Amino acid sequence: MMFNKVYGAWTWLGQQLLPLRCLLCGAPGADGLDLCAACHAGLPWNDAACPLCALPLPDGECTARCGACLRAPPRQHGAAATFLYAAPVDGLLRRFKFHHDLAAGRLLSTLMLQRVPAFVDGPLLPVPLHRQRLRARGYDQALELARPLARTLDLPVWQGMQRTRLTAPQSDLDAEARRRNLRDAFAVTRPAPARSILVDDVMTTGATLDAAVRALHRGGSTHVRLWVCARVP
Ligand SMILES: [Zn+2]
Ligand SMILES: [Zn+2]
Repeated sequence: MMFNKVYGAWTWLGQQLLPLRCLLCGAPGADGLDLCAACHAGLPWNDAACPLCALPLPDGECTARCGACLRAPPRQHGAAATFLYAAPVDGLLRRFKFHHDLAAGRLLSTLMLQRVPAFVDGPLLPVPLHRQRLRARGYDQALELARPLARTLDLPVWQGMQRTRLTAPQSDLDAEARRRNLRDAFAVTRPAPARSILVDDVMTTGATLDAAVRALHRGGSTHVRLWVCARVP
């Protein structure tokens, strides 16, 4: 017990004293980040995007939503992706998700806080991992992103949703197979908040998030919005 306290204090002290280092190039960090000013300037921000699906809009276009969302509005009431899934964010996300690089995850959530979407005003819901995958990885990347966001924004994290099916990796499947793969992949275990914000690391086709939104609607939600770190264009 005592050892844990001392060790915890020591780790905390180490974090305060260690100089910030850019996780991308090793140069000194800037503005309190593990990222240097030059690498920060090269980040692929996704600032001009469709407010419903977060896909980037063509240059100079000022339409309220993209053509696809005009033709068939998605289930969610809004979506924002801080970045496009492009270098160097894609590499940071892979380090975070597949190589236990939790410092990369902390940096990404800090960067997400530099572009907080206006709709973020309710509980944050990290998209859950299946228990078996959580055991294999040791941490849940959506929860690791959501926790510091919730702490900074003073919002609750709601974890009443479970991944009930261990789905095949989505990247191996075409669009129709993705939808089949995700049928009933999520279940809500207690009444879902009316308004909530789903948080995830990457939005690819949106099929996984759509399945989560559907489960939340079944659980009583009326307004679900998505906040992801990166959108695959
Ligand atoms: Zn750098
Ligand atoms: Zn759209």
